[in-house]
Amino acid sequence: MYEKFIDITELFGSMVFSEDQMQQRLSPACYTAWKSCVSQGTTLDRTSADEIAEAMKEWAVEKGATHFTHWFQPMTGFTAEKHEGFLSSTGRNKVLMELGGKALTRGEADASSFPSGGLRATFEARGYTAWDPTSYAFVKDNTLYIPTIFCSYGGETLDKKTPLLRSIRVLDRQCVRILRLFGNDRVQHVTPQVGPEQEYFLIDRAMYDRREDLKLCGRTLFGAKPPKGQELDDHYYGAIKPRVAAFMRELDEELWKLGVPAKTEHNEVAPSQHELAPIYSDANSACDYNQLTMELLKRVASRHDLVCLLHEKPFAGVNGSGKHDNWSLATDEGENLLKPGRTPSQNAQFLLFLAAFVKGVDEYQEMLRCCVSYPGNDHRLGGNEAPPAIVSIFLGDELAAVIQAIISGSEYVDVAKRRLEIGVDTMPEIPQDTTDRNRTSPLAFTGNKFEFRMLGSSQSIASPNVVLNTMMAEELSRFADRLEKADDFRADLQELLRETFRDHQRIIFNGNGYGEEWVAEAARRGLSNLKDTVDCMPAYISDRNVDLFTRHGIFSYKEMRARYEIHLENYCKVTTIEANTLLDMAQRHILPAVFRYSRELSSGASRAQRVLAEELDRSGDSLYDLCLALRQALEKAPALDGGIDSARYFRDEVVPMIRRAGELISSLETITAAEHWPYPTYADILFSV
Ligand code: ADP
Ligand code: MG
Repeated sequence: MYEKFIDITELFGSMVFSEDQMQQRLSPACYTAWKSCVSQGTTLDRTSADEIAEAMKEWAVEKGATHFTHWFQPMTGFTAEKHEGFLSSTGRNKVLMELGGKALTRGEADASSFPSGGLRATFEARGYTAWDPTSYAFVKDNTLYIPTIFCSYGGETLDKKTPLLRSIRVLDRQCVRILRLFGNDRVQHVTPQVGPEQEYFLIDRAMYDRREDLKLCGRTLFGAKPPKGQELDDHYYGAIKPRVAAFMRELDEELWKLGVPAKTEHNEVAPSQHELAPIYSDANSACDYNQLTMELLKRVASRHDLVCLLHEKPFAGVNGSGKHDNWSLATDEGENLLKPGRTPSQNAQFLLFLAAFVKGVDEYQEMLRCCVSYPGNDHRLGGNEAPPAIVSIFLGDELAAVIQAIISGSEYVDVAKRRLEIGVDTMPEIPQDTTDRNRTSPLAFTGNKFEFRMLGSSQSIASPNVVLNTMMAEELSRFADRLEKADDFRADLQELLRETFRDHQRIIFNGNGYGEEWVAEAARRGLSNLKDTVDCMPAYISDRNVDLFTRHGIFSYKEMRARYEIHLENYCKVTTIEANTLLDMAQRHILPAVFRYSRELSSGASRAQRVLAEELDRSGDSLYDLCLALRQALEKAPALDGGIDSARYFRDEVVPMIRRAGELISSLETITAAEHWPYPTYADILFSV
């Protein structure tokens, strides 16, 4: 077969209005204005905005664009767009392609259909989008995409990008303060770096089309365990099938054109499960890139008659899908602040950032738990393959030993039996080898970055990074406040590290996070163990968390309250959709099939036929009763936007019935003749590609 040759350097970023493009196409004055807007946060003057808009439009038209859209990230977790033509008529037979500075920088969108948690009064349905000059515009589907933030008429944020940008800025300021304490006067900016690993399932379109639950809920509501699952581990890193390889190749090309640095693609543990990881980039771009990746995964799959499932738990009893948020801090000189240094002073600095992280995770463990909580991820967290619902940090044996030595002020047990004096001694080598690192930990230190592993596969990475950035900014600001006043910096630093590690060591856990013993041990340590979204949500608006985000100007109380309401309403809605889908499938397809088969059997002559018919009837009756109860529970259900009480009702009354009905249907599936069973089985779906 003819393989087309692609030049990746040509292709990469070819549809992006990148810095290079700006440098080539803008006047020096305008380019400088944009640079200072991006790095110093200055506002762009109108003339520069007009010039950028014109250059951007010209470039986009060369790339075949006829339309432009403000591209934003509302609280649905998806992206949204509002397309407009460049076309503007200027009299008879004359058209102009136009994009002015005003259209570039500001847009208006009807916000009434996006979740706002009551932030938009109904009489004021206008929402505004405003250009985010720190992420690049790009051309996709003959449309110029302009990344924007999204807010209400009153200026309240209605999106996921605004808080992310704010948290990046706040963290930057605090990191620079700390670096100054270590005598670093060169660094101007520190930016969080993020590389999200994305897991997903790829299944055959024909199978998907026959499963109402996959189409409406994104997951199967029932399904018997396939005769062969993942027990042989033959899928993990296994050879990629030609059809999947073709899909991955096309996906890579599409992503590369948009400047998304997709790098590794491989098979995951479960059959039909795969992973894609990009090369890491600044947190803001990483978030845009991940949104584009999720969108293109679905789009490219459909061109191959495949469907990409991003749900966290598409199949009960089969590994679910998560997203690993690899997070570190880089200076504008390219130094990674989470990399243990070679000199005593670099190590002291590293330990200070580590201490801030440890303290932050301990103090804001509930917020970290909250930002990954939603119905899809409830199936996963605390399950067998995912991290437990308890937040803890894995540091590895070497680093844990260093911390113990700091806490006790004792000899550090290396060959030299030294006493580790911060800022004077070097730390022992921390091996970067990651082969046997702890996979059960929700937050693992992996040599030069932290890997936050609790994220669900379908979620935007914005919120988790907002939490990481803000809690880190908070702790660094406290440290800086104290150390800036120090008389003896080194002694004070040593004491600060000792106190911090001593007071927050409970959050460090290097053992098996899946074990029952850990649950008991974590309880003894006073760590929180929030089981599901409904249990988590009150923490979202606890005093501690509201304080954190308001103090750093990330959210107002009103904005947090709104987000809290949106999460709860979403929980009720998702549960209702699942319940209704289950009822439809059970009542209109499964029960009729079961009873049809049992009638057919009961006319048979053998004992086995009669026994089986009885068993089918018994289970069928139970399922019918359960459906009836579920219908009644839905009829009695409180309003979907009724806050925490409604969410509790759905969690306690409705969710268990959906689960029980699913189990009952799964067992019926195993005893109903294949020709009568109305849906593809797990084996059909998982081994279809
Ligand atoms: P794995 O976790 O599967 O072993 P890698 O270690 O290669 O894979 O990295 C996974 C992800 O972490 C990639 O997206 C990679 O770009 C990202 N990553 C690597 N180094 C850093 C860093 N310093 N900061 C943030 N992300 C990073
Ligand atoms: Mg990883």
